[in-house]
Amino acid sequence: MYLQEKENSVLESDSALLQNYKRFPVEFAYGNGVHLYDRNGNEYLDFLCGIAVTGFGHSHPVIKKAVDEQLKSFWHVSNLFESTNQQTLAEKLVQHSGLDKVFFCNSGTEANEAAIKFARKFGEERTTIISAEGSFHGRTMGSLSASAQVKLWNGFRPLTPGFKYVPFNDVDTIGHSITEDVCAIILEPIQGEGGIITPSPEYLKEVEKLCRENNLLLILDEVQTGMGRTGKFFAHQWFDVVPDIITLAKGIANGLPLGATIVSAKVADKIKPGDHGSTFGGNPLSIAAANAVVNLLTPETLTHISNSGKELMNELQKINSPAIKEIRGLGLIIGIEFDEKILNSTVVETLLNKKILTYSAGRNTMRLLPPYIINKNHISQFMLSFSSMINDLHLD
Ligand code: PLP
Repeated sequence: MYLQEKENSVLESDSALLQNYKRFPVEFAYGNGVHLYDRNGNEYLDFLCGIAVTGFGHSHPVIKKAVDEQLKSFWHVSNLFESTNQQTLAEKLVQHSGLDKVFFCNSGTEANEAAIKFARKFGEERTTIISAEGSFHGRTMGSLSASAQVKLWNGFRPLTPGFKYVPFNDVDTIGHSITEDVCAIILEPIQGEGGIITPSPEYLKEVEKLCRENNLLLILDEVQTGMGRTGKFFAHQWFDVVPDIITLAKGIANGLPLGATIVSAKVADKIKPGDHGSTFGGNPLSIAAANAVVNLLTPETLTHISNSGKELMNELQKINSPAIKEIRGLGLIIGIEFDEKILNSTVVETLLNKKILTYSAGRNTMRLLPPYIINKNHISQFMLSFSSMINDLHLD
């Protein structure tokens, strides 16, 4: 009893934890596949995946085995020494991207910090990077300054200088913003935190063309959309573009901390020993997990992700309710925007009470990020709870 009380008490505001997160009053004890289990044994359908992290679900045997094996050898050596496993992972990422070299770090924000530094090194005198309104690239000062959302900046100014902001999905404004100090454009192929905003099919291609014409780097932040989430290895592969830098994190190691910045040869050529680094970046356990993840991301898995996404989208679109304004997404990243009278946080909490994990994004949008291993039964189970929640909503 005391233990239970003690456990519950850490959820309250007198906790020693800094109150920088608004946490749901649920604590999980373990996870298996598409499910998480709380301390009372309740089963939750995980349609959130730690916000696009655990793509292959919880305790995946192949990933677990790879990490267990690595644990037996060691769990840290410095980047001062050779690592065959890092090289293997880098080679796989190079193959999938068509780019040339990889830098490993620990998170999405770090992958973008590296991209920003590499772009400046490439640009020499040109130091400005164009980014899109509503974007999210991370919380450290460089990537925060690249994230064009005023609500994230309040209280943390001054921002890192050298960023210009343009509306997302608007090529003309980018064209007008390219001055002689600009070295790069950073974009998410689909804006995740901004509300699962999918651009027009030709947008990225046209931005790529502008980059080529003006000798700018195209940096694509695939932290949320990469590693199979949309049904292709990288989301930009749907749009037939080749960027100069790709940033990854979240799903890359199925829950262990890892980020990656993949660069083309012309960027790599500018980077010399000592220009950038990380103590923990590319740590052996995360690299072992990521090598297993990349091996699991077979063409069959990608097709399954794509088909499951279409099926889920079809089912959602069958719901005819004034509560739903728009449904957007690609593969297994789906946003459902609600009428302004409905609060997305209420929807997320109602589903949590029905033992389904989802989360909000952007303006009144709910985000679905199910694991790649879902089947028709999981989709049906989700739809049953989602439809009943929608039926219970009142617009007045
Ligand atoms: N970039 C994108 C597109 C993201 O969605 C996120 C996190 O949500 C980040 C960067 C930051 O990643 P991290 O939280 O690992 O620093």
